[in-house]
Amino acid sequence: MTDTTLMSIPGQVDPVPVARDITPREDGRVDLIGLPKKDITALFEGAGLDKRQAKLRAKQVFHWLYHRGVTDFEAMTDIAKTMRPWLAERFVIGRPDVVEAQHSTDGTRKWLLKTSDGHEFEMVFIPDADRGTLCVSSQVGCTLNCRFCHTGTMRLVRNLTPGEIVGQVMLARDSLGEWPKGRMDDLGDESEAEYTADGRLLTNIVMMGMGEPLYNFDNVRDALQLVMDGDGLALSKRRITLSTSGVVPAMARCGEEIGVNLAVSLHAVTKEIRDEIVPINKKYGLEELLQACADYPGASNARRITFEYVMLKDKNDSDEHARELVRLLKAYKLPAKVNLIPFNPWPGAVYECSTPERIKRFSDIVFEGGISAPVRTPRGRDIDAACGQLKTAAEKKSRAQRDREEAEAAAQAG
Ligand code: SAH
Ligand code: SF4
Repeated sequence: MTDTTLMSIPGQVDPVPVARDITPREDGRVDLIGLPKKDITALFEGAGLDKRQAKLRAKQVFHWLYHRGVTDFEAMTDIAKTMRPWLAERFVIGRPDVVEAQHSTDGTRKWLLKTSDGHEFEMVFIPDADRGTLCVSSQVGCTLNCRFCHTGTMRLVRNLTPGEIVGQVMLARDSLGEWPKGRMDDLGDESEAEYTADGRLLTNIVMMGMGEPLYNFDNVRDALQLVMDGDGLALSKRRITLSTSGVVPAMARCGEEIGVNLAVSLHAVTKEIRDEIVPINKKYGLEELLQACADYPGASNARRITFEYVMLKDKNDSDEHARELVRLLKAYKLPAKVNLIPFNPWPGAVYECSTPERIKRFSDIVFEGGISAPVRTPRGRDIDAACGQLKTAAEKKSRAQRDREEAEAAAQAG
């Protein structure tokens, strides 16, 4: 049964009511993925264990879930044999369903995933020589309508839950075969080499998949706290980057409560152009955004803020724009690096990518201004896995189309 209590998603563009996140399973069992240790403890207590037992079992189960990646209580060998069916009757260990997995010729992998209530979303893994980056989605669709972004043409279907967000990381580890091998209950018989926690294919996480993570703040925070928990996935906050289109009021909280690296989708240096291509700019303007960046907790020369800048032909790519970019970043004394993203095309997009020469020139000007501005190599374009190409079946319908469908449905019902 779905809880249909409505809540509104903040955002100036098209705030829509969506169903609340918690969808109890039909069989009444509770999915443990996405819950912090203290909630697992409380659930175990609620199911009848005494305080001490609940705490001990929660600690053990948490380790199996997030450190070892098991999906079956039977595999939890340090938990009494009789206890395992007791757990399985009450709880499950979920993963998002995989609808389709694709491989790009450049090694990039994209997964089309599905929530238990049937909504599709995507995650992408980008292997490099020295690192492997998982690009994680925070919402199904997006409330915002950045004009160059394919996801922006979808409506927001709903926020992903903490379980669905951390579930992407778990699934990637499953697919990459990266859970530590070996038995935990019997380490005596095992050489150190057999019990290794370092697969090291997945080293970095970027919240740059579908959706605006700061419009799903609580769930993203709870999920990333699980990803960073030293008893579990234990990924350092320095290896996690959250990208925002500029939800100014949530930025300070992001630094304080999550503490990960910040990337900001700047994309333009004048009000006129940013209003057009990143419409949230009409609500939180450039000055406010850059000030929030200057105030971002934890930013320093050692931990710079990344400014993403999509290269759109004849729109935002002139020499003058490049010089203004340098001026602005300096005026706000920002510890900044710029990431130039060649525009990735999608069917129906109104923009074209700047020429390679233009991108090079733009990059040179920013470099000459003393700010690093590498060009991001597009990855996985052949499977539509590159930045801004993610989109699933839930269309953003026009008002006219919705009216037409409603009229048809009413006619059929009558
Ligand atoms: N919603 C967040 C994070 C997801 S998008 C945000 O907007 O920051 C990740 C990055 O890809 C953002 O910088 C986004 O602006 C950029 N992007 C979107 N569409 C793109 C496209 N078609 N080509 C290149 N980059 C794109
Ligand atoms: Fe949403 Fe980011 Fe795409 Fe803008 S760029 S529509 S905020 S996903």
